[in-house]
Amino acid sequence: MSPEEFKRLGYQLIDFIAEYRAGIESMPVMSQVQPGDIKSLFPPNPPQQGRGFSGLQDDLRALLPGLTHWQSPNFFAWFPSNAPLSSVLADIVATGLGQTGITWQASPALTEVEEVMNDWLRQMFGLPETFKGVIQDTASTGTFVALLTAREWATQQCQDRGGLQAEAQPLTVYVSDQAHSSVPKAALLAGFGRDNLRLIETDDAHAMRLDRLAAAIEHDLAQGRKPCAVVAAIGTTGTTAIDPLRGIVELCQQHGIWLHVDAAMAGSAMILPECRWMWEGVEYADSIAINPHKWLGVAFDCSLYYVREPQHLIRAMSTNPSYLHSAADGQVKNYKDWGIPLGRRFRALKIWFTLLDQGVEGLQARLRRDLANAKWLEAQVKQMPGWELLAPVPLQTVCVRYNPGGLSPEQLDRHTLDWVARVNRTGRAFVTPAMLKGRWMIRVSIGAETTEHSHVEALWTLMQQEAQKVEVDR
Ligand code: PLP
Repeated sequence: MSPEEFKRLGYQLIDFIAEYRAGIESMPVMSQVQPGDIKSLFPPNPPQQGRGFSGLQDDLRALLPGLTHWQSPNFFAWFPSNAPLSSVLADIVATGLGQTGITWQASPALTEVEEVMNDWLRQMFGLPETFKGVIQDTASTGTFVALLTAREWATQQCQDRGGLQAEAQPLTVYVSDQAHSSVPKAALLAGFGRDNLRLIETDDAHAMRLDRLAAAIEHDLAQGRKPCAVVAAIGTTGTTAIDPLRGIVELCQQHGIWLHVDAAMAGSAMILPECRWMWEGVEYADSIAINPHKWLGVAFDCSLYYVREPQHLIRAMSTNPSYLHSAADGQVKNYKDWGIPLGRRFRALKIWFTLLDQGVEGLQARLRRDLANAKWLEAQVKQMPGWELLAPVPLQTVCVRYNPGGLSPEQLDRHTLDWVARVNRTGRAFVTPAMLKGRWMIRVSIGAETTEHSHVEALWTLMQQEAQKVEVDR
């Protein structure tokens, strides 16, 4: 493709994206296609000759029914993510510039813009200057990197000897029973083993119980194991529960345990001073994962990973092949030593463009709008007979169930899944069910960029209508 052709087609495709976004509210929010429908649009074999791009927009339009519209104002599923068109442009520029940041020398601008953005966001989150950041693809990777680093830190670099397999004492990891699935997964992939992973019981607000954490640590010590890491969730996935960070910090300090904070979701809210009570004590964390690609809206993927003492991370992650040496080494950051991949995209542009577009105050205003909408919905649910609120609402997620009364837990589960399926089939909104302590509930996750109060009101009306229509299976 020549630069001229790129320009012509590029303008058309920008028009296509802009029209898609402008018309998004008229499309069914949850994709209504059946498995295989989209695959069937493609021939079974690849083209032997390039066909060119005539008819491309029609081809793309044919894919639209296969999209679940995350950017619809009526999207209330999983979590808000990936929104502003300004960061879409940044993504195009990042790819267009064709940079691969394997070292500082390979792209000084890529490295240094990332340093600046990591620091701007650090200031926005109210973290102390000692914290240094690096962009990872996802929080799953951030947590994995944290547990690898904790493992090496706790064993004085066991990778240089026989690895975890040669350690005299088994190392243990503590997470709440509400931790995101990526957290136990990271512990298992980092080699701790399921026998050494403790799922700590949570309280009525679904937050980690400190007494249970303390007891588990004491028990492991008494059994000759070595407590290695605690992962605290600031905003669990199910209900945005807030683990008691101050008390967890004290236990970690008392026993010399690595503390990783998974703030993938709630981290965005830390740009609001009034929300920072949620992670009081965070300045003592060893590592923190926050996803700007969630509620802050930066185009996916963009996950911030902060560490208080970078030397532990670098010791665990660094490599030093001769072909990556440069005269600037020693004066510059080489982010290849701050995570797993060598290659690095110019992701920092997405943060920069988002901030140029909205500024800190614009982002704060949007988050405050969503918090107010969640509070409004919480109040409606509380005062409506038959409706149950299943968790506190510190952020933008409201967890609810409709209970017509007289149903067994299994019947109530079926009823819940039935009415949420009805809501989603209407195409007028999309909400997702999830299990909370063994029973189904509905999570209403508010915060798509275009969701205004009227959309939340319309959702509440729709939920009540559909829940009433379901026949109770007694
Ligand atoms: N941690 C929490 C609390 C989450 O809510 C999520 C995603 O929903 C993750 C981790 C995983 O995020 P990612 O997709 O960036 O790996």
